[in-house]
Amino acid sequence: MGENRHKLKAAILKDKRSIILGDIPDPGTPASDEVRVKILSVGICGSDVHYYTDGRIGSFIVDAPLILGHEACGIVEQIGENVTKVSVGDFVALEPGIPCKKCKECFTGNYNLCKKIKFWATPPINGALTEYVLHPEIFTFKLPSNINHSIGPLIEPLSVAVHAITKTGIQPGDIVFINGSGTVGCLTSVVAKTLGGSYVISSDNNELRLNLARKMGVDKTINILSDSIINKVNQITKSLGVNLIYECSGYSKSLNDLIPISSPGGKITLIGMGNQKYDFDAVDAMSKELQIYTIFRYANSYFKAIEIAKNTNFNLQELITDRFSIDNVSDAFEYASNPEPRTCKILIDFTS
Ligand SMILES: [Zn+2]
Ligand SMILES: [Zn+2]
Repeated sequence: MGENRHKLKAAILKDKRSIILGDIPDPGTPASDEVRVKILSVGICGSDVHYYTDGRIGSFIVDAPLILGHEACGIVEQIGENVTKVSVGDFVALEPGIPCKKCKECFTGNYNLCKKIKFWATPPINGALTEYVLHPEIFTFKLPSNINHSIGPLIEPLSVAVHAITKTGIQPGDIVFINGSGTVGCLTSVVAKTLGGSYVISSDNNELRLNLARKMGVDKTINILSDSIINKVNQITKSLGVNLIYECSGYSKSLNDLIPISSPGGKITLIGMGNQKYDFDAVDAMSKELQIYTIFRYANSYFKAIEIAKNTNFNLQELITDRFSIDNVSDAFEYASNPEPRTCKILIDFTS
């Protein structure tokens, strides 16, 4: 125990567009049901970037210094006396939301909807861009040896995709359309293909992202700068449409393209969260009895996401396009706020 247990480095959002590498108190030793984890890497999520650029997401406002980051993995350094599931030295992914475990939502398996959930990097709860965290054992998941620390943070967005597809179900013969081919869009393709979806089409306005999407199992891509989603999907499906649609762009106007391409009885799931209201042709949706789903983060999905990441043949590593050390975290966020088109997931790597 030679390390200094008084101050830790942390990436602290002080104000809009101002992140400093500051010192925070060490969280100390774990409680009986907790583990102490040395953070190895943290992915930067769209929500982190929004807090950085705007200081808020909807009603969540950063009005005090906030440690960002919720897509984390690390090494277990110490365990509480009642911990049995993980051991010292295990490489683990950390599920970032800690619910109250007392309310109806918690008891019915929908703990992502717990009103008292403490979710990392959502004001006022600090996130994981720091050297050590204490975390409950039940939200700490041992990672298999073929998942390294540079893809460990992808378990979080992969859990979002798992949650969405668990809601809608998927089976052989299903034709999937994914609107938006960023990290979550690409990972939705991975999950769809792994769980039996037959054919996946995805869209984006960025050819480099579409290229990544094809590497993640997408069979056909549509660049919306040059093609119309409706025309192209009609052409590909011989006007039969697609029966499972996942909206990953957060751009509410897309629904006007998604309702027409859905086959009768199809399911549309809203995954991307934007700021605009939805305005859509309800009659068109009703006359096909479309089912519109919404999701919020995930519940009971981490272990499934880990199984998928462990067994997939798709090279998830390709989604990690940029890396910064924790010492350069403020450059990382400045870059993330205005990235080059080739960028998909940006990682803060504590080992470099
Ligand atoms: Zn995220
Ligand atoms: Zn609860």
